[in-house]
Amino acid sequence: MRVFKFGGASVKDAAGVENVVSVLQKVGHKNTLVVVSAMGKTTNALEVVIEQYRDKNPELSNSIKTLKDAHTGILTDLFKSEQHPIFAKISAIFDDLKTFLERNKSPKYDYIYDQVVSYGEIISTTILSEFLTLKGFDNDWLDARTLVKTNSTYRDAKVDWEATQQAISSTVNKQNLSITQGFIGADTNNFTTTLGREGSDYSAAIFAYCLNAESVSIWKDVDGVLNGDPRVFKNTKLLNQISYEEAIELAFYGASVIHPKTLQPLQQKEIPLYVKSFINPENVGTSVSKGQTLEPFIPCFIVKKNQVLISLSSLDFSFIVEENISEIFSLFHKYQVKVDLIQNTAISFSVCVNNKFGHLQDLIAELRAKFDVSFEENVSLYTIRHFDQAAAEGLEKDKTILLKQLGTETYQIVTKQ
Ligand code: ASP
Ligand code: MG
Repeated sequence: MRVFKFGGASVKDAAGVENVVSVLQKVGHKNTLVVVSAMGKTTNALEVVIEQYRDKNPELSNSIKTLKDAHTGILTDLFKSEQHPIFAKISAIFDDLKTFLERNKSPKYDYIYDQVVSYGEIISTTILSEFLTLKGFDNDWLDARTLVKTNSTYRDAKVDWEATQQAISSTVNKQNLSITQGFIGADTNNFTTTLGREGSDYSAAIFAYCLNAESVSIWKDVDGVLNGDPRVFKNTKLLNQISYEEAIELAFYGASVIHPKTLQPLQQKEIPLYVKSFINPENVGTSVSKGQTLEPFIPCFIVKKNQVLISLSSLDFSFIVEENISEIFSLFHKYQVKVDLIQNTAISFSVCVNNKFGHLQDLIAELRAKFDVSFEENVSLYTIRHFDQAAAEGLEKDKTILLKQLGTETYQIVTKQ
């Protein structure tokens, strides 16, 4: 059986949903589990809803209404007749969301975030499943919260593999077409959890692993994995084959095509991952599998924007040794600051980090008790895998470089902006 993943961009409007159906028609729809993200920019819109709820912003109900209207517009395009039960179904889901917000007593932001943001996927899968039924494709709508079991680290939940394996094996009918949500799961109290932004690819890998799938296909609006984000880099080329190890490296350095955690479960069972175009589904796309490192073997460019460069030195010019380093790392862990690059000398230590949870100020305050700390926000981290001189020179042009690091395979610079 196969696992497919359709991201937000592929179901951003009625035409997108119709296209998913046509892809399934072309490539077959039996023995397939389809993992779907929230439609278009719904997750971002729900993040705004969550912030407005926290801030008691009077715009809150308008924002929910705008989101509901956008989905209702798609329903009208897809189902035409408002008599179709899907209208009442989606309306009831929005009522549920409002009821949650009215009744919630928890002050915990991350918990609230997951309970609310997950509606995006519940809604998108409900719409797709009903539309497939309308088009004559029998399918099972599965609630991922009953299948992907996690701990209670809201917004960054860790999978309980044993419980997940058990739930998936006993529920999913491999012969059928199943539709389920990416990104979401539930903890032991059955509260919704999420696997981190852009986590739907990872969900697809979790399902594939537990189902011993023959492959995972991620359907995208590009032809496959390119050697750089075409919105940032010029003259990008399609990669035909990438080994798991290389893909993990690329993801680690921030290549946004594949979620960092997605590949490990697939590699363990040697399940190939195909990245394919939902516009040209007959094209082969990119295969991430056991085999050649990279084909064609060319430099790959990655950028991470909005990073923070933190430099630490000891207050008394003493060396920064293992003991300090482990202390520094435990603070990064405590404040959920993700480290992307490390450079250290005897008395100083520089790291480029991601402040996606917004705990930077607290971290800096705690570090200042022990170290001399300086930091610069809004820096960019550029990485070239398999660099050559021409690639490095081209990248450095017109940039203010704050830090540079070279390895045998990897070249990295931190630049202003
Ligand atoms: N909808 C979620 C997000 O936008 C998950 C995903 O798309 O992978 O982050
Ligand atoms: Mg999304």
